[in-house]
Amino acid sequence: MTATLDRRRLLTLFGGTVALAATGPALAQPIFSDDPFSLGVASGEPTADGFVIWTRLAPRPLEFGSGMPMSPIGVDWQVATDDGFRNIVARGTEVARPELGHSLHVEVSGLQPATPYWYRFNAGRERSAFGRAKTTPRAGAPTARVRLAAAGCQHYEQGLYTAYRHLSREEDLDFVFHYGDYIYEGRASGVYRSREGGVTGNPRRYVGDECYSLDDYRRRYAQTTSDLDLQNARQAAPWFASFDDHEVDNNWAADVEQDDAPADAFRLRRAMAFQAWWENMPVRRSMLPAAGAISAYRRARYGDLLDAHVLDTRQYRTDQPCGDGFRTTCPARTAAEAQMLGSEQERWLDASLRQRGARWALLAQQVMVTALDRRREQDGDGTLFNLDSWAGYEAPRQRLLERAARHGSTVILTGDEHQNYANEATLPNGRVAAAEFVATSISSGGDGREQRAGTPAFLARNPQCKFNNDRRGYILCDITPERWRTDFRVVDRVSTPGGEVSTRTSFAVAPGRPALQAA
Ligand code: FE
Ligand code: CA
Repeated sequence: MTATLDRRRLLTLFGGTVALAATGPALAQPIFSDDPFSLGVASGEPTADGFVIWTRLAPRPLEFGSGMPMSPIGVDWQVATDDGFRNIVARGTEVARPELGHSLHVEVSGLQPATPYWYRFNAGRERSAFGRAKTTPRAGAPTARVRLAAAGCQHYEQGLYTAYRHLSREEDLDFVFHYGDYIYEGRASGVYRSREGGVTGNPRRYVGDECYSLDDYRRRYAQTTSDLDLQNARQAAPWFASFDDHEVDNNWAADVEQDDAPADAFRLRRAMAFQAWWENMPVRRSMLPAAGAISAYRRARYGDLLDAHVLDTRQYRTDQPCGDGFRTTCPARTAAEAQMLGSEQERWLDASLRQRGARWALLAQQVMVTALDRRREQDGDGTLFNLDSWAGYEAPRQRLLERAARHGSTVILTGDEHQNYANEATLPNGRVAAAEFVATSISSGGDGREQRAGTPAFLARNPQCKFNNDRRGYILCDITPERWRTDFRVVDRVSTPGGEVSTRTSFAVAPGRPALQAA
C-alpha cells in the first residue's frame, strides 16, 4: 500500500522523471526517463587491497533534487579485472540516500596490490560508463615506478576542460592529485577580470548566484561534473581529492571568511559546502563531515618508492596576516604562533617523514610554499608576498622546510596560483630543502599566455624560481628510485574547443639532492 502511494506521489511531484516499481518493501527500483549517471563515475583513495568507487544519481543534474525522488535507491556495482567485465571479482548493492544527494561511495576491498581494475554501476535498467582504478603496491614492497598527475583550479566559466581530456589519455596513471578549486563559489559572470585589470569574455556560464546553501553547492558540483572531459579524467585513474578555498569561499581560513561574516554563520555555510564536496568526491565514509569539520589530511603508500601526503592547508590555519592579499610584510607574517597545518597535522606529518617508509616523500597540497617576491616591475619598495600562501606563515613554513630538508627526498606539489612554477624551496642558510612544482590551472584565468608581463624582472628577483609560465594545463610526474621527473603539460587554448597539449618543460630531481636539474 505504501509503495503504491509513494509511486503515485512521485509521478505527481517529479513529472514522470522517476517512477517506482513496487518490487519490495525496502528499496525503490526506479525507472528513469533521463540517464541517472549523467555525472559519470569516479574512483579514489586507493590502498593495496581496494579503493572507493563513486557515482551520484542525477537524471536532471541542474534541477533542485537533481531529478531524484526523496527515497533511498538501491544501486548495484561491479569490479572486474578487464574493461569488458568478463572477470568480475567483486560486486554488491549499496544504497544511494537522499540525505547524501544520492551519492554512492563504495569501499571496495579484498583486491590484489598494484593492479588495475574496472568498475561500473547499475540503477534500475540503467548502466553507468565504466572507470579504471588501480590499487597501490603494498607498503614497503619493491616498486619500480609510480606515475601521477596533479590538477585543479577549474573555473567552469573561464575555460573549457580540454586539459582534462588530455590528462585522461596519459598512460598508466597510478593516481591524480586534485589540489582544489573544483568549483568556484561566486555568482555567475560573463567575464573574467584578471589581477592586472584585463577583462575577457567567458566561454561558459555558471547557473545561479553565489553559493550559500547545500543545494547551491550541489548544483555547482553537478554543473561542473556534467562536463565530459572532466568525467573522462575522473574515470581514467583513482583520485586523491583535496579542497582549497573556492570549494567554500575565497581565501577562507578556519572559521574566518574574507567578507567578515560572523564565525558561527560561516561555520554553517562551510558545513554545507563540505557536505556537497564529500558527496561529489570519491572519498571514504570516514571523511564525511562531522560537526562541520572534515578529516581530510591523509597518506597513501606506494611500496618502497613513494609516501604521498595529502595536506589540509585551510581548516586549521590562522587568519591571513597583514590584511591578506599581495602585500609587503608586517610583524604578523613572522608571528611564532601562526599556524598553517595546525599542531596535530604537523605532528602527524613530522612522524611520517621521520619514519622514512619510502624513498620519496610527496607533500601534495594547495598553496605555494616557496616565499617568492611577487613584484613584476623593476621598482617598488619592499618584498611583495602572497599572504594567503605559506609566505604569510613564516614560522610553520620554516618548520616544514626543516622537516623536508631532514628527509632529503621531499617533493612538493601545489596549485592555487593559476600559473606554472618550478621552485627550489630554500632554507635561510641557502640549502635547498625541497623541489616544489606548482601546477597552473585546468581553466581558471582563461587561455593565458607564455609569460605574464614583467617575468624577466620577477625571475631576476627570485633565484629560487627556475620556471614560470602562464598557460593552462596540469603536471605529470614519473617517479623511479633513481629520479623524480616532472613534466609541465600545457594546452594552447581553453576558450575554444580543440586545444592541443604539449610538454612545455621538464625537470628532474635525484633522491637526496632536492635541487632542480634539467630533464
Ligand atoms: Fe584557483
Ligand atoms: Ca585557491
